[in-house]
Amino acid sequence: TGLIASCSSKISKTSIVSVKQGSLEMKVDSVLNLMTLEEKVGQLNQYNGFWEITGPTPKEGQAAKKYDDLKRGLVGSMLNVKGVKDVKALQKIAVEQTRLGIPLIFGFDVIHGYKTISPIPLAEAASWDLEAIKKSAAIAAEEAAAVGLNWTFAPMVDISRDARWGRVMEGAGEDPYLGSKIAVARVQGFQGEDLSATNTILACAKHFAGYGFAESGRDYNTVDVSESVLQNTIFPPFKAAVDAGVRTFMNSFNELNGIPATGSSYLQREVLKGDWKFDGLMVSDWGSINEMIAHGFAKDSKQAAEMAINAGSDMDMESSAYVTYLVALVKEGKVKERLIDDAARRVLKVKFELGLFDDPYKYCDENGELVTIGKPEFQEGVLDMARKSIVLLKNEKELLPLKKSGQKIAVIGALASDKTSPLGSWRIAADDESAVSVLEGLQKYKGNQLTYAKGANVTIGRTQFIWETKINTTDKSEFAAAIAIAKQAEVVIMVLGEHGLQSGEGRSRTEIGLPGVQQELLEAVYKVNPNIVLVLNNGRPLAIPWADENIPAIVEAWQLGTQSGNAIAEVLYGDYNPSGKLPMTFPRNVGQIPIYYNFKNTGRPTMNEPESVFWSHYIDEKNTPLYAFGHGLSYSKFEYSNLKLSSNSFTKNGKIEISITLKNTSKIAGKEVVQLYIRDLIGSVTRPVKELKGFEMIELMPNETKVVTFEINEKTIEYFTANRKWEAESGDFKVFIGGSSVTKLEDNFKYSN
Ligand code: BGC
Repeated sequence: TGLIASCSSKISKTSIVSVKQGSLEMKVDSVLNLMTLEEKVGQLNQYNGFWEITGPTPKEGQAAKKYDDLKRGLVGSMLNVKGVKDVKALQKIAVEQTRLGIPLIFGFDVIHGYKTISPIPLAEAASWDLEAIKKSAAIAAEEAAAVGLNWTFAPMVDISRDARWGRVMEGAGEDPYLGSKIAVARVQGFQGEDLSATNTILACAKHFAGYGFAESGRDYNTVDVSESVLQNTIFPPFKAAVDAGVRTFMNSFNELNGIPATGSSYLQREVLKGDWKFDGLMVSDWGSINEMIAHGFAKDSKQAAEMAINAGSDMDMESSAYVTYLVALVKEGKVKERLIDDAARRVLKVKFELGLFDDPYKYCDENGELVTIGKPEFQEGVLDMARKSIVLLKNEKELLPLKKSGQKIAVIGALASDKTSPLGSWRIAADDESAVSVLEGLQKYKGNQLTYAKGANVTIGRTQFIWETKINTTDKSEFAAAIAIAKQAEVVIMVLGEHGLQSGEGRSRTEIGLPGVQQELLEAVYKVNPNIVLVLNNGRPLAIPWADENIPAIVEAWQLGTQSGNAIAEVLYGDYNPSGKLPMTFPRNVGQIPIYYNFKNTGRPTMNEPESVFWSHYIDEKNTPLYAFGHGLSYSKFEYSNLKLSSNSFTKNGKIEISITLKNTSKIAGKEVVQLYIRDLIGSVTRPVKELKGFEMIELMPNETKVVTFEINEKTIEYFTANRKWEAESGDFKVFIGGSSVTKLEDNFKYSN
């Protein structure tokens, strides 16, 4: 009532994105000036609406308090409200019943799709296809916006080197360079060119910072990392997201070097809002303000609120600490009102940018919801993304692609017929059983004779609720049926791995082989028929050394979302030639973790077969990974040759061009991700043995040749040095080009500043 009217009369309705920054600030201030301290604090309060608020108006308990706060203008945002009807009802309360009528923003974890589900983010990262990833985020944004949402808590840009951590499924893997490029693609996909459009939503870079470095891969665990790791490995994707214009950030549950991220003014005020000049909104993670009590950092919720706001956390997700204590803290002089103003300004700003002050119901079109959800072009989009996410790990005995007719094929594994697991973790709004299973995908190819047996379940019980934790089964009663069909078949396709709910938040594992009795099943089937194509479903790298040694063909198919089975069948039959490359190292053994390609040398040789026990090695395992970062095969064969540098040295502001010739020596057209790595031989801080610095997706027809060129300049070699700043140090470098982080071609260059 009051504000919306006064806004429209006082402030021009020109699209915010098209007006100058100054006018946006003026609009924000014009609202802020009307607000009481209580109302400003209200804007910093975010409530969960999932269970509590939607449905009939509750009369008592926590839900009643939330309703009451909402009506009093003490809520700035809600999360987990599903569907236009509920969003509209809650927005109506905010707009019509509160004194100022400030609209709410509605957040949701649209991590890889809303209802039409894309591959899990780690799988998408395996495509190395930035345009496809951007498009996938844009599809998710359009579908989410159509159900009334205007804010996703994505992308998660946490780098991780630990496959035990269940949330690696949600990120882009282990590399800061690839991670940064993907962070940008996702931010651009969600936010689009124009945030005020009704098919774009706010993105959120999370979790700031260090969450992916939890000790021993146990979710939420302590993070203790050096400044060098923080700056060179953890920060880059966050910084890239800021530079790409991400409008919101989320802090993190973990402590970082002794300070909980939520209470860290170093992270939030000094780095993010200071050095990086981020002028958007920082939301806490779920209850992370109150978690500072258990961390042993704040004595109670009131002190936690004080520490969090002073440290630069603008919005409180579900702790109720801000709404309960901030007003008193200001009155007691413990929190400066200008900090509340700054935080409230950031909230109001994104509301203006979304255009909600012009039309608070702009995302609330019930008809739009009906026509947009699951549109055919979305299905085509997630199918395309799924195809591109598949990584061919191994292909011997010419098992793949499958012949299209005249074969008996046995399909084995519970995951082959599962229509829920391919949706993966974080697909809160998608319906169970809404994915195309591998079996359904294969059945569309009619030329072969298919038989199917489960062989073994992956988990016990049904997978009804996304948070339900499953236990591995030990039941082998269905082995015999699987062995019987394998005996009759020419080729066996075994779909094994993790259920979609065995990775994700709170799903850390200490063993990362095939869960349950699946390894035994694989070995039992192999005894009667070794012509096995192993299709892996998983949300993290797996340690499967036996399979690598024995199984002729292995396809990494992750959890690929709604169109999963169609994409997998197309790849198995060669209708789509795989081009994915691993964004994260696969270990041979969980004991090698953390294992990553951009490690540093020790003072001693690092070799698989050491000449001395005192070389850096294990006595029971190799040092090398099972599958290296960047690895991925194709049905085409590519040959790399003729590495050339335009010069062997360059100076400040100069550059070198480096090229190779790539040839498709096969009879099949295909795509190859050509990767450029460098090594800085001597640094003021020791440098990794290899660092990705460029990549290019090249498509080649049979026998076609292309020259692929990269540029190396100062930016390529910059890092956070002993001077505690990003700079390029003079010295000698190596440069490598290849189809994975294990490269054959290399040369040297020199830089002097
Ligand atoms: C997760 C966040 C998520 C939030 C809201 C937390 O448990 O760590 O990533 O956005 O919940 O659902």
